[in-house]
This record gives sequence, C-alpha cells and structure tokens, in this order.
Amino acid sequence: MNNIYFTPGPTQLYPTVPFHIKKALEEDILSIAHRSKKVCQILESGEVLLKELLNIPRDYRIYFLSSGTECMERVIQNCVEKYSFHFVNGSFSNRFFKTAQELGKRPKRLEVADGLGFMDIMFEIHRLTDLICFTHNETSTGFAVPLDYIYQTHKRYPDKLITIDIVSSAPSVYLDYSQLDCVFFSIQKGFGLPAGLAVMIVSPRAFAKAQSLADHMSIGSYHSFLSMEKYREKNQTPETPNVLGMYLFHQVLVDMKKKTIADIRRETEEKAHMLYSFFESSTNLKPFIENPLYRSNTVIVISTGDQTEPLMDYLKNHGIIVGSGYGKWKEKQIRIANFPSHTKGNVEYLLQLLHSYLPR
Ligand SMILES: *Cc1c(COP(=O)(O)O)cnc(C)c1O
Repeated sequence: MNNIYFTPGPTQLYPTVPFHIKKALEEDILSIAHRSKKVCQILESGEVLLKELLNIPRDYRIYFLSSGTECMERVIQNCVEKYSFHFVNGSFSNRFFKTAQELGKRPKRLEVADGLGFMDIMFEIHRLTDLICFTHNETSTGFAVPLDYIYQTHKRYPDKLITIDIVSSAPSVYLDYSQLDCVFFSIQKGFGLPAGLAVMIVSPRAFAKAQSLADHMSIGSYHSFLSMEKYREKNQTPETPNVLGMYLFHQVLVDMKKKTIADIRRETEEKAHMLYSFFESSTNLKPFIENPLYRSNTVIVISTGDQTEPLMDYLKNHGIIVGSGYGKWKEKQIRIANFPSHTKGNVEYLLQLLHSYLPR
C-alpha cells in the first residue's frame, strides 16, 4: 500500500501524475531533443495554460528555472542594484534576505519572531530600494501574509518592484498580478509534481529593470532575464532543461483547468477549515499561528510538544506521512500540507486517525 504524503514538499502526487509519467515514456519525452518542435510546443502551451489558469496578464513573461531557491537568487540579480527590502518571519523569508546578502547587495529587513505578524509595525523603505520581497506563505511556520498588506505596501511605494514567493501557496492563492512584479513557485508543492522545476512570472516593469541594470552591471549569466527571454521568444530555454518536469507540469495544468481553479480554491478552503476546526477544539494539539487571519490554508502547522514523535509514528503506521516541524521546530511541531493533490477523503481519513489518537 502506498502512503499518503501530507508533507509540504515533495508531497502527494497529483492523482493523474502516474498516468502522465507512463504517457511520457510512450511518447519518448525523455529522449527527444530539447530544441525539437514537440518540446517547444510543450513550453509554448504551458505558458498559455498557466496564464489562463492563474489569470496572469498577457504581457507578463513566464520563465522556467530549476527551484524556488534559484528563483530567489535570480530575482535579486535581475531587479536589485544595491538595496532590497524583506519582510522576514521564518526560515524561507530569511533565506531570501540572506541570498541578497550573499550576492553582495545591501538588503534591509523588517524582522519579527517566527510565526508573528509585522502588520502593526511601522517601517520605512530606503528611497534607493529597488525591490520589496514577500514570502506569501512561510512554509516553516504556517504563516500567510494577508494579500491586502502586500497590495497596500505596493500602493505606498508604487515606484518599487514587488516580488512574492508563492512556492507553497500556488496555485490556490488568488493574486492580482497587476500589482506584482516577480512571482515564483516550484512545482513539487502545490502542483503535486516531482521536484526539479520552478516557474517565474515577470512583469514588464521588472523586465525593464533587468535591461537597465544590464547596461552597467552583471545580472547573472544563462538564467538572467535577458538570456531567458532570448530563448523564450523561440519557446526554448538557454540550457537543456527538465523536459519531463515541463511535460508533467503541462499535463497537470490541463487537468487543473478541466477541474477549474475555482473548485480547487474552494476545496482548499474547505479542507483547511476541516483541519483547523479539529485542532482548535483539541486540548493538546494547537495551531502554531494563533491569529486566524494569519493562518495558511495550504501549510497547517501544529504545536505538538512531546507528542510529536509518537503522533507521527502513529500516523505513519496507518499510512499517513505528515511533515515534521521545520529547522528548530523539528521536535515540537508537525506540518500538514493541504494541496490540490490532497482529496477531501484523504483529509477525512487523517482526521479520523487524529480523533482516535490517544496521547501517550
Ligand atoms: C520550499 C520553499 C522554497 C524553496 O523551494 P525549492 O524548490 O525547494 O528550492 C522557497 N520558498 C518557500 C516558501 C518554500 O516553501
């Protein structure tokens, strides 16, 4: 029997993926040339499908990279001359900040402790700042930044570019792309696919920024926006890419479009509600994020204290794998992913097990 993976990435495969992998073998996807017509068509229609599914403006560009972590690096290289500004309240937002430091920039940050909100804290952003960086869904803590806060920050600083990491909230999160510049995700989380491919959505403004920086400084090499654009115009990538990942992503986009994104979003909310309701009424197992306004719908983090290991073992013995806490929270929390690949039936089974679990 296969386990059900509620881990926040890699995770449970989207249900159609095994079928698409077989199909990929039958169609020689793993052997055909990466500049062949067939692969170019996969890239071209992948871009069209993604724009339709997520309602992305036509003049935004879509690039394929290899990981969410790579996307952080490329955004900084292509959009920041010297100063970026980061909202930090967990490991992934901190990784974004550190990336800017490691690339020799001078990033500033508004930082609060893991799991806390920065919404009531005053801040000023330096006039020479090019880019404001948000991690929409902090996968390490289960904190989701309210989108209104991101849009308000954009209104307050309209001349600055805004980037948002939606690695663990795509495709469920509904964004107004006209207020955002670089949006990125990798496909091993919300899309329920094997790791090794990421997608970056770039506004005309962000692309123009990369062009103007490239006049007088390095914006990177093969994966600079300009290099990727040169190949994108031919529906290609600079390097030999993850063609299998692109094929599977394309097929799952078709499946999700058929199911409709509205249904996916509604189910995500329903399943999140089922899970949070259970934990709110539990005495030992409580959501780590106390304020319901800041709770992620897609990564549900529970403080489990000394029950962490026995609970995880109990679930595992019944075929359910949940994530451990992230980093320093490893022994004290569990993380439950709620992605489109997790059916309502999966969640009901998990809840049934949680009900029957007796703390040791
Ligand atoms: C997983 C994750 C990343 C890193 O993505 P990789 O594809 O593993 O490099 C970045 N940001 C967030 C919010 C994540 O959850």
